[in-house]
Amino acid sequence: SLSDRLQATMKRIRGRGKVSEADVKQMTREIRLALLEADVNFKVVKKFVKSIQERAVGQEVLKSLTPGQQVIKVVQEELTDLMGGTQTKINFALKPPTVLLFVGLQGAGKTTSAAKLAYYIRKTHNKNPLMIAADIYRPAAIKQLQTLGGQLNIPVFSLGDKVSPVEIVRQGMEQARANHHDLVLIDTAGRLHIDEGLMDELEQIKEVSHPDEVFLVVDAMTGQDAVNVATAFNDRLSLTGVVMTKLDGDTRGGAALSIRSVTGTPIKFVGMGEKMDALEPFHPDRMASRILGMGDVLSLIEKAQATIDEEKARDMQQKLLSVTFTLDDFLEQIGQVRNMGPLEDLLAMMPGANRFKGMKNMQVDEKKIDQIQAIIRSMTPGEKTDPDIINASRKKRIALGSGTSVADVNRLLKQFKDMKKMMKQFMGKGKKRNPFNLPF
Ligand code: GDP
Ligand code: MG
Repeated sequence: SLSDRLQATMKRIRGRGKVSEADVKQMTREIRLALLEADVNFKVVKKFVKSIQERAVGQEVLKSLTPGQQVIKVVQEELTDLMGGTQTKINFALKPPTVLLFVGLQGAGKTTSAAKLAYYIRKTHNKNPLMIAADIYRPAAIKQLQTLGGQLNIPVFSLGDKVSPVEIVRQGMEQARANHHDLVLIDTAGRLHIDEGLMDELEQIKEVSHPDEVFLVVDAMTGQDAVNVATAFNDRLSLTGVVMTKLDGDTRGGAALSIRSVTGTPIKFVGMGEKMDALEPFHPDRMASRILGMGDVLSLIEKAQATIDEEKARDMQQKLLSVTFTLDDFLEQIGQVRNMGPLEDLLAMMPGANRFKGMKNMQVDEKKIDQIQAIIRSMTPGEKTDPDIINASRKKRIALGSGTSVADVNRLLKQFKDMKKMMKQFMGKGKKRNPFNLPF
């Protein structure tokens, strides 16, 4: 993947005390290939490589004390720029309701993303959303939105599939105003290819709904094609943002890198899975770091902080650093990690996460959490602080007390040990080269 290729290139240059012009040439050649292979638009690649080259052989790098690091910083900054520089926020209407129109090809993820975003904005901005079902062509499209709405407890306006989409939207807008919804999300139909009939319909929907955002939903897996689609939709509908879905999949990543510089439309959100909470605001700098293998530390922290009480999180970090992380902490951590989503997802965001693939012991079996709780609660305070003292007879006592087996106790102790080791590794790493200046 793009990330793997760039990481290999960066690794070669990272530790260099001296970087020659030839090194830079070699590196830019590799970057160029990696980008082209990842399906990044060739004009974008050309421009990108040129600015890297200029900056990398300039004063900035060659005169610096850590040229290897400096080159990586340049690449990171340029990648960030390529994706729009800073995060682009939702454009809320001064006079409610704020209207978000979702357009895109069939299967891109419009319906899913509309529901995810309704859920996300309700949570982050305390809004009262209404979703409008204006896809009357795809069988069961209305039902799909209604099901998602039902799950999230968000109302869906629909008039079945016998009324024209434009009329549905017009009446839906009336309903939103009448019922004081301050957020409206319009789910529209897609086609397999760009289609004039569809574009006409979307233009009319736009006219009757006056959207504050026209979001193009694109599938990251479609690579270069996503860029072409974006150009076509932008010409007709003046997009205000892109929602890029399926970044959790095995994408080559090229679309994320080119879409902004080709169309001028920023990516505002990314879909990271099928579940309703698998949507994140897009941060160009973090994406660049992720591509370069520095790990998405900030997203991770943000996720942790949304779930874990901030003070507790800081406390936990302190403990991890000072290695007084006990089984009690482990117990608490398990509960909190559970609220953050699957542990594997979290690991994937950490620096050097690749190394942990296949470490099966890291996985917390959600069903066994009750058992783990029982085991830990059967321990004495001394055992919890220093599990090394848990010998065979103590294990037997703990197993008996918790209604489990010695094998279960052993498994838990091993998991705890592995987790502690893993966390120490992460923290140690973060301390040495922390690209974000975090307090750890
Ligand atoms: P639409 O035709 O544009 O409305 O697309 P849908 O919303 O129906 O999505 C098509 C499929 O893609 C569904 O199976 C979704 O669950 C899936 N999907 C949407 N977004 C994502 C994402 O970010 N990641 C993954 N893995 N699947 C997604
Ligand atoms: Mg749909």
